[in-house]
Amino acid sequence: MNEDGKIRLKIFEWLSDQIRIFSNVLDTQLLNSFVYLDERIFLQGSKGIWKPKQLQFPISIASDPEGKYSDGFISESMLHYSYEGTDPNLWTNLLLREAMMRNIPLIYLQKISKGKYFVHLPVYIIKDEPDKLRFTVAAENVIQFSEKPNILEDPEIRYLKQEYVTREVKQRMYQQTFRELVLDAYKDHCAICSLRHRELLDAAHIKSDAEGGKPLVTNGLSLCKIHHSAFDQNILGINPDYIIEVRRDVLEEIDGPMLKYGIQEMHGNRIILPHSSAKRPDRDLLAQRYEMFKKAI
Ligand SMILES: [Zn+2]
Repeated sequence: MNEDGKIRLKIFEWLSDQIRIFSNVLDTQLLNSFVYLDERIFLQGSKGIWKPKQLQFPISIASDPEGKYSDGFISESMLHYSYEGTDPNLWTNLLLREAMMRNIPLIYLQKISKGKYFVHLPVYIIKDEPDKLRFTVAAENVIQFSEKPNILEDPEIRYLKQEYVTREVKQRMYQQTFRELVLDAYKDHCAICSLRHRELLDAAHIKSDAEGGKPLVTNGLSLCKIHHSAFDQNILGINPDYIIEVRRDVLEEIDGPMLKYGIQEMHGNRIILPHSSAKRPDRDLLAQRYEMFKKAI
């Protein structure tokens, strides 16, 4: 194994440990704390296609949903990644093409918020489209169906695949990313009661996973545990104008302070909305969900 391969393996081992300890959401400070032979190797850098000086090929590709490139997942496990600039032969683009030809595993850093990334590893470049100025990147579970059937025969890659990637990671990624995005959008408040305790908050789906609801901020609501359950159980609903409605029979019930102050008094209030209108709940999704609530009465 060449020097790049050796260091790369160490990096993947170390980063997988960090993911086990913390989660797939890691900050820049941690990503840049890897040390090899007394030298710090940054895994995230000033460029989207990042090659530390110690390596021959890029180690990571980063994308920013608010940036100028239209990068993003085109399916559960494949994404488009734009070239840097518009010159297919710019050195960073050339290196990524070379990484594709050699089946070199990379890290994909998906920016979630300032200084925070969802870490995907390993990912591989599987397609190059100079006319569209972009690459296609695959996460592990599509490699067997990709255009490169020989990829699994490489012992180094097989090792990476067995050791570091499971389907559960993928599941966790969607849940954790969704939670981070939603809680950030609501600045860690329950949209109904404004409770501000991150550990008591959930990212609730408006349209559920099971019904094909996507893990997007606009399909989410930051809700405390009680209001999340009350919403899921149709004890209260939110109409497309963002007004909370408590189910009639529950409104008339007599019980302790939790019911009175925690549920009944919310009736007719408007939910707290994210500052950015692009992050507010999708009214069509709310309307669909509200129909279900009405039927529960
Ligand atoms: Zn609440």
